[in-house]
Amino acid sequence: MRTKSIDIHQHFPGTNKLDARVQACADAGIVKQVLLGLPESRVPGDNAGSLEASRLFPDLFIPFYGLEMDADTPDNISRARDRGFVGVKCIAPRRPYNDPAYFPLYERCAELELPVLYHLGIVANNKAWNDCDSNLMRAIHLDHIARMIPQLTIIGAHFGNPWSDEAGMACRWNPNLFFDFSGSLLKYRSPQFLGDLLWWQSDGPYSSPDKTTAWQKICFGTDVNSDLMEDVRQDHENLMNALNLTPELRHAIWYGTAAKILKLAPEV
Ligand SMILES: [Zn+2]
Repeated sequence: MRTKSIDIHQHFPGTNKLDARVQACADAGIVKQVLLGLPESRVPGDNAGSLEASRLFPDLFIPFYGLEMDADTPDNISRARDRGFVGVKCIAPRRPYNDPAYFPLYERCAELELPVLYHLGIVANNKAWNDCDSNLMRAIHLDHIARMIPQLTIIGAHFGNPWSDEAGMACRWNPNLFFDFSGSLLKYRSPQFLGDLLWWQSDGPYSSPDKTTAWQKICFGTDVNSDLMEDVRQDHENLMNALNLTPELRHAIWYGTAAKILKLAPEV
């Protein structure tokens, strides 16, 4: 039996691959999966597909709205919420994420209590993304957003890959900032590397302001094709074993922290 988990980072696989995704979730013990939409300016845009998947499988899929960062207004976010999206995904900005032009968008998300997941760091170099400047999507930008809008719940993807040192310190200082380890991160960063960056405890002179332990700020996420989800799940388990994390911290990573972010009932 796999540990029950929430996958905070996935994408719509396409209508004809939806049944295979549902099966892959069952096989990997994933009971909730966030589908992060892409705006229509990206090919293929899949906000509509993500929403449709969540209607077909309402107990499993949780749709996040893919924001057109340089075109959408705050009212577009309100409309997305009214359509059924429960969070927002940001990627491929024309300016750094912490540019003041974007703050009205983030403030609307905070008002509507929509968590925001930001792609961080390097993106694949393929046709859909060949205009992207990865340097505009750095973890340290989220530090600025998190402290300016403390009511906003923020998830940074891929632990800032490759700028994970920024991600670690931003994580420590901002109670409203969380990270996932999806992408290629666990294929090349060792347990010791990640353990060194997530070093603080819940008390003592170098604790975090909200007295949480570093690993309570990390959420399980896959972000791969359905047939590789089990492999990513195993990578997370190997990491937790190598670092000898407590059962409480493992539960936080698999389920508890994401459940709080998504306002789901805590798993028993
Ligand atoms: Zn992704």
